[in-house]
Formats: sequence, structure tokens, C-alpha cells
Amino acid sequence: MNGGPDSRYVRQIRFAPVGQEGQQRLGKGTVAVVGIGALGCVIASHLARSGIGELRLIDRDIVEWSNLQRQLLYDEEDAVQALPKAEAAANKLKRINSSIAIRAFAADLHAGNAASLLEGADLVLDGTDNFQTRYLLNDYAVRTGIPWIYGGAVGAGGMTMTVVPGETPCYRCLFPEPPSAGLTDTCETAGVLSPLVDVIGSLQAMEAIKWLTGNSSQLRPGLLQLDLWRNAWMPLDLAGAKRSACPCCAAGEFPFLEPTPDDTALLCGRDTVQIRPNRPLSLDLKALAARLSSLESGSFSLTPYSLRYIRDERISAVFFADARALIQGTSDAIKAKAIYADILG
Ligand SMILES: [Zn+2]
Repeated sequence: MNGGPDSRYVRQIRFAPVGQEGQQRLGKGTVAVVGIGALGCVIASHLARSGIGELRLIDRDIVEWSNLQRQLLYDEEDAVQALPKAEAAANKLKRINSSIAIRAFAADLHAGNAASLLEGADLVLDGTDNFQTRYLLNDYAVRTGIPWIYGGAVGAGGMTMTVVPGETPCYRCLFPEPPSAGLTDTCETAGVLSPLVDVIGSLQAMEAIKWLTGNSSQLRPGLLQLDLWRNAWMPLDLAGAKRSACPCCAAGEFPFLEPTPDDTALLCGRDTVQIRPNRPLSLDLKALAARLSSLESGSFSLTPYSLRYIRDERISAVFFADARALIQGTSDAIKAKAIYADILG
């Protein structure tokens, strides 16, 4: 049993509640990890190593130097190349486990593409850093009946909760409406420590393994809040927290699955605006590179998945094949749109 690839899952199978049967179930499971930042890196790493059947990595961002302090799948070369996180994570995970299906989506999950990106997943894991996507995931999960595992981390504190539609309260039972922008701490305003995201991501991955191996009776009930700086673990019992007036899981309203005309988003933690076309488009990155190379100013680098154009020392832009772009160096959406239009011509 020692030495060869066949021994890969030996220790996991030896853990009795998993066993051979649990391992086989894992190997048939499909999981979507939405957001491959600090939490997503931990979750995806554990699930890839444990032998999940199919792992979908969905992230809209690129690797930057400020990510390396806590986003454990990335290295300096990824930041130098400004690789899309989904691709950089997939590259690394394929070297860790080549026997599973790993699919990378360098995409912004939104109401218009959620069904196609998440279809067929047995479970959705939240690695995002924004409320908009979490409410979307909750709506999607409750509507389709598949569970999702929420996780959030800021500073040295975080929380996690497993939502099993029909059984547990949903996210909106607890938090009926998204908070107003600017009212909550984010990684940008409060910072975040690396060991914290490791713990929260690991808690999420553990729940995922329980669910996928057929051990749903062992899922952690309620909401767990913790603060690793103050050494506080604060489980919150959610018995009775399922609200009969919940617009989502009781009334069956799913407003976050309705496409919105809003085509810009400010990314957490940086001077970066995302521009997303309102309708499906495709952008020929090579043709754009050829056109940019004829300009007298600026420089660009082309990867198989993205084109990065450095216009000057303040402004740069990363374009993806779906015509989505990250405009770096500004937090002004109107200015970012103008730069986007300017470069695409
Ligand atoms: Zn609810």
C-alpha cells in the first residue's frame, strides 16, 4: 500500500466514517468554489487533495503581490505575470492531483451566468469577499436545493455556516438584506491575518467532506463565529432561526438571480474597477495585442487567458476573452469605463 499513486487516499480511507464508500462518493462529487482568494485557496487545496471528482474554480480577479501574504496557492511568479487566479490555482492544483477534473473559470459569477457555471454542482463553497455574490449563492442554492457553505474572514475574526435548503435556516433568514456599502469592515479597511483564513477555509472544507462522503448527520449545526486574536470560539445555535417570513426560503423569491444592468464593480481592497459587458461578447485578445503594439505608449503582456495593458505608471488594464476588464489605478467607475472604451477603441 505504500509508495505508489494507489496509496494516495490511504489515510483518509482509514478514517472509518469515510472508508472506501465515502472515498468513492467523494470521487463522484462535483464542487464549485466561488472566489479563489484566501478562503478559496484553502478550500480548493483540501478538496483537490481529498480526491473530489470535479472541482470548479471560479474567480474574476488576477494575482497581485498583496495576495501572497495569505492566498496559499499563489507565488511570486503568478503575481509578476498577473495571472487570473482561477488559472493560477488550477495550474498548481493539477500538479497536486492530476487524477481529478479541475476546471478553471476566470469569470465574474453573476445572475446571468450563475446557472451555467454552477449547474450540476453537488455543493457550492463560498470563497468570496462580497455580499452581492453571497446573496446570489444563497438564492441559487435555495432555488435548486443544493447546499452551500458560507465563510467570511476579516481581521482576525470570521464566521462560517452551512446552508442545507429545506433543513437549515438560509443566509437570508439571518441576514435579510445586504448591508449598505461602507457599513461593514472589509479586508481593505480592517486587514486580514493569514492563519485566520486558513482556519475558516478548513472548517468549510471539512463540512464539504462530511457532506460529500455521506456523513451529513455530522454537519456542524448553526453559525460558528471565531476570533483567533482573542481566542474566542462562539457557536451560535440556530434552532428556531428559520424564519417563516424569509423572502428566500419561505416565500421563494430570488431577486439576486435577476440580471441587473449594473456593469461595474469596485473590487475589495484595491483601486480596481471591474467592467463587465451587459451582453455576451467575445474579445480577440491576440488582435487587441496586435493593435496595442502599434501604439507609441504603454506596454502589454499576453497570457493564454488574459491581456494586461500597462498604459502608464498609474493606469493598467487586464482584459479577458469575454470582454470583461479590470481597470487598475482608479476607484472611479466612470473614469474606468472611459479608459475601457478608450483602449478597446
Ligand atoms: Zn431563509
